[in-house]
Amino acid sequence: MDFLTDMAAKRAELTPEALAFADQETGRRFSFGEINDRASRLGNLLLGRGLSRGDRMAVLCLNHPDFFVLLFAAQKTGILLVPLNWRQPAAELTPILEVSGARLLFHDDGFAETARQLAAQTGVELLPFGAAQGQTSALDPLLAAASPAAIGCGRIKAHAPWYLLYTSGTTGLPKAVIQTAGMAYANMINYGQAAGLSTGEKGVNFLPLFHTAGINLPTLPIFLNGGSSTVLRKFDPDTVLGLIDAGEVTCFFGVPAIYQALSLSPGIGATRFDAVRSLGCGGAPVPKHLLTEFQGRGVTICNGMGMTETGPTVFLMDKANAAGKIGSVGKPQLMTDVRLIDTDGGIVEGPGEGELQFRGPNITPGYMDNPEATIATFTVDGWLKSGDIGRRDEDGYYYIVDRIKDMYISGGENVYPAEVEKVLVSHPAILEAVVIGVADEKWGEVGAAFVIARPGMEVDTAALPAWCRTHLAPYKIPKSFAVVDDMPRTAAGKVRKNILKDRFQSDKT
Ligand code: ATP
Ligand code: MG
Repeated sequence: MDFLTDMAAKRAELTPEALAFADQETGRRFSFGEINDRASRLGNLLLGRGLSRGDRMAVLCLNHPDFFVLLFAAQKTGILLVPLNWRQPAAELTPILEVSGARLLFHDDGFAETARQLAAQTGVELLPFGAAQGQTSALDPLLAAASPAAIGCGRIKAHAPWYLLYTSGTTGLPKAVIQTAGMAYANMINYGQAAGLSTGEKGVNFLPLFHTAGINLPTLPIFLNGGSSTVLRKFDPDTVLGLIDAGEVTCFFGVPAIYQALSLSPGIGATRFDAVRSLGCGGAPVPKHLLTEFQGRGVTICNGMGMTETGPTVFLMDKANAAGKIGSVGKPQLMTDVRLIDTDGGIVEGPGEGELQFRGPNITPGYMDNPEATIATFTVDGWLKSGDIGRRDEDGYYYIVDRIKDMYISGGENVYPAEVEKVLVSHPAILEAVVIGVADEKWGEVGAAFVIARPGMEVDTAALPAWCRTHLAPYKIPKSFAVVDDMPRTAAGKVRKNILKDRFQSDKT
């Protein structure tokens, strides 16, 4: 597959009048025809400003249907889109913007001050975007003045860089992952098949659009199937539960923190989940109590695994086996090969454990302008090294054991913090638990646990070693327990263990 169809143009040809996006905040609705027309006009505007294939443009915005207009304009013109993480201050965004080489920065009203600072630092040109106060789209006046001529012949290169996404930054500085149309189509087949997506699916889009999940799970696969998405500026549990209850969501994807927030929302008790056919979760381990709780509400959370580098999905649990294979992420998806590599570099056959490595058309060609990182991440024979330890059971189902970097060795024994964390969150008073390995004179490394109490409950840390002892071998039991209000997190809600480790170290000295 060297060339693929321009997504927006094809949908506009097939179902021009059908609803593509509904903007929840303003009630404005965009048909496929309108999205494609907007994307062509925006493309013409960009080309008219002297940008061309390979140039970069950045965007700093809360979620808005126009984000997809910008994404499709990028696809039509070959200008690379660089979505920026709005949780980062100008000081952190400046070097990213400089490295990206972006000449234009689209931003919404809410980030005007940050955008001004970025322009002063980098000389980037600013353009209004999203929904400014009293408007439904700040792009409207610009698009009205732009040429409506359809761009290109509707064919785009499958392997050409389309946009850049930064990894979550869980283990260090985020890396700019090249995303291509080929990856998006492969993901659509992978995820579409595993989640059982069909025509006319309804999604809800609230995950931040500077991460792969917001673009590639609740949105592009639905768009390509001719379904629609309701776009929220950002996540709000009551709004999401309201949409679910109203039958406006058939296909849902969240990260564990989202399910946690929904389960703690008082509105959940009265919410009818009847319309929801697919409920996916990924990005981090899902606590068992959430799987059980939603099962009790008549819906099955299917745990999946993926990475920014994998477009993103590699695994998604099938509904039929979810209850029997608690904790599994399922089997490898249609387009992706998976292998497990043991510590000696050998390929694990049958049931066993090792580093998860991936190959397939959904995998990135590499990191942008960073050949060292690309070389370090791929094997010579072209497999992506995930950095995650996986386990395959006798039926071919996979489990994410932990990150290789998070594993620590206590008295010569490997300890996977994820296993210890699972035991801690099974305690009735604990909402969330994080375990890190810290240096210890006697054992080399030992575990240090940080726990967040459930609302209205207290955690008695003195009782936790005994709780752990009933479930875990002695060397796995953390040597210290601390109750905390929150953890340092990435924008995707994942805990940044590297920061917890630094804090632990500096508290000791
Ligand atoms: P960085 O690469 O910058 O350190 P990151 O790896 O967190 O950040 P992402 O690409 O957003 O950035 O996340 C992919 C990682 O998330 C996977 O490599 C894996 O460690 C973790 N992950 C994804 N899904 C699951 C899951 N279901 N269970 C456990 N871990 C998961
Ligand atoms: Mg990573």
